[in-house]
Amino acid sequence: MTSYEYETLLDRAWEKLPEKLKNHSRFEIPKVDSFVEGNQTIVRNFNEIANTFGREPRHLMTYLSKELAAFITSDGKRVIINRVLRREMINKRVDEYAREYVLCHECGRPDTKFTELAGEKIIKCEACGGWRPLRKIK
Ligand SMILES: [Zn+2]
Repeated sequence: MTSYEYETLLDRAWEKLPEKLKNHSRFEIPKVDSFVEGNQTIVRNFNEIANTFGREPRHLMTYLSKELAAFITSDGKRVIINRVLRREMINKRVDEYAREYVLCHECGRPDTKFTELAGEKIIKCEACGGWRPLRKIK
């Protein structure tokens, strides 16, 4: 069997899976790669996380800044948080971000985008068409 045939078989098997199962096995919320330096926490893979989510790094930064009650700056690739934080604390917030701003609440897929409907900002799923109002970061 060539690798192409194998891939095709996998795709077919995939299509037969119930929707719910697909959602959970295909998309994984990325884990933060961070370390503490002095009284700051550096996140090395910040841009990768934003990319995986298909979101502007700035949006994720704003969210984390509010949720972690910290100032966050970026040097282009990494972000620097002005607090000492355990990795799990950041991961927890990244998970919450994904649930609110990335994953569709109807089908669970990450194929969503921010758009507008009748002048309201919404998050819309391109896989199932589901949408909900986009919650403002407070
Ligand atoms: Zn959906």
